[in-house]
Amino acid sequence: KVRVRFAPSPTGALHIGGVRTALYNYLFAKKHGGDMLLRIEDTDSARFVPGAEDYIIESLNWLGIGIDEGIGCNAQGPHAPYRQSERKAIYRKYVEQLLSAGLAYIAFDTPAELDAKRSEISNFQYDASTRGMMTNSLTLSATEVQSRIENGDQYVVRIKIEPNEDIKVQDLIRGEVVINSSIIDDKVLFKSSDELPTYHMANVVDDYLMEISHVIRGEEWLPSAPLHVLLYRYLGWTDVMPQFAHLPLLLKPDGNGKLSKRDGDRLGFPVFPLNWKDPKTGETSSGYREAGYFPEAVVNFLSLLGWNSGTEQEIFSMKELIDQFSLDRVSKSGAKFDYEKGKWFNHKYLQLKSNDEIADIYQNILKEKGISVALDKVVKIVSLVKERANFVTELWNQSSFFFVAPVEYDAKTIQKRWKAETPAQMTELVSVLKAISEFTPEETERIVKDWITEKEYNLGGVMNAFRLSIVGEPKGPHMFDIIALLGKDETIARLERAVN
Ligand code: GLU
Repeated sequence: KVRVRFAPSPTGALHIGGVRTALYNYLFAKKHGGDMLLRIEDTDSARFVPGAEDYIIESLNWLGIGIDEGIGCNAQGPHAPYRQSERKAIYRKYVEQLLSAGLAYIAFDTPAELDAKRSEISNFQYDASTRGMMTNSLTLSATEVQSRIENGDQYVVRIKIEPNEDIKVQDLIRGEVVINSSIIDDKVLFKSSDELPTYHMANVVDDYLMEISHVIRGEEWLPSAPLHVLLYRYLGWTDVMPQFAHLPLLLKPDGNGKLSKRDGDRLGFPVFPLNWKDPKTGETSSGYREAGYFPEAVVNFLSLLGWNSGTEQEIFSMKELIDQFSLDRVSKSGAKFDYEKGKWFNHKYLQLKSNDEIADIYQNILKEKGISVALDKVVKIVSLVKERANFVTELWNQSSFFFVAPVEYDAKTIQKRWKAETPAQMTELVSVLKAISEFTPEETERIVKDWITEKEYNLGGVMNAFRLSIVGEPKGPHMFDIIALLGKDETIARLERAVN
């Protein structure tokens, strides 16, 4: 059975790259009828940030990335707890197993001693070539080790890596990746100071115990994969080792380097799913939700940053993504984060959504501005202007004149379009409009155009002045749609105001 996990560390806001990892895991799981787990990797207490876990859950909920098991799923599941800080006792057992098999050892070197070694030996690495000169259970006698521990000396447990072995990682995206064990150091697996394992140990133990079939994660974890392969071997779990898939990096829009958390503020676009208020600095970083994005648009946008369906199709519902997703169509090279494309997706979804649905959201925005309008009218306005907007919030800019009569008129247009004969024509237009009994777009258009033809006025000239009087600017949808919605009285009032 396919079982995948999203395993974030609660160290702050979830980055959009992390969201993409979660999404690909979800798509893969659902495509194969499998389960998606959410596990919180919080063994590094120094980097723990309060609120981050809730933020992660809220983000996934907003995007519709469903969790079948673990944190954020009411039912929790058979492998609880799913927060690593609550699994101390479980890891202890496997650390002991490695120690007694001689595949790991205890090391007492203090940070100061390690620093001293680093300055003494260039490119110092704690490994087969140096461990003999350090303070550890390989160089001390068993009684010495025992008495140091009883003494309360802090220690770590390190994995013992044999040098000169080519370690092969089979990656579903990259194929076989070979790394020589000599370049891997004897990584710390466990720290006595907080009695917690490090990321590597906890991650491997949990993937094993939680029966994870596929580890799908960012490329930044590829260098750790050989170590994880060794841990599976040392723990005797090679035959149930999950398959690995390392996703390409998200790159800055110009392709120059990895997209960082700071790029959002620097380049003026969100790199987080939701607004995030940093509890330490109090600073708020903006998120897609608050910027007015539809979650479907964000999902669609992210789905194509590193994957393609092999067709021309660009708009995908979650269901279509699940149907079409496959790891062999995930690219090896980094994906440029093209923010303009993100806006384009939102524009598309704005057009796809029903006018009713958008009107509901827009009506709330109007209410906040103190404007109350009947929903059916908002629906009509939305239908007239939405093709000009990327976001619901932009509808205001496109349609404010429906609710507020112009108080100023665009100076450039006045200069160009407001001729000596215009006031008289607009006054005449008032009487033409007054005489119309059925104030529909079709009727008003027919009658006004007949009048212009009959009087041999310049069509463009009259219509531009008409628009200026009603809208205040040379913009907006079809004039006769606008006045039908405004109604006869308001249209006439605006014309009269413009003339005076
Ligand atoms: N806790 C790691 C992270 O924050 C998980 C990496 C993995 O998926 O193995 O991304």
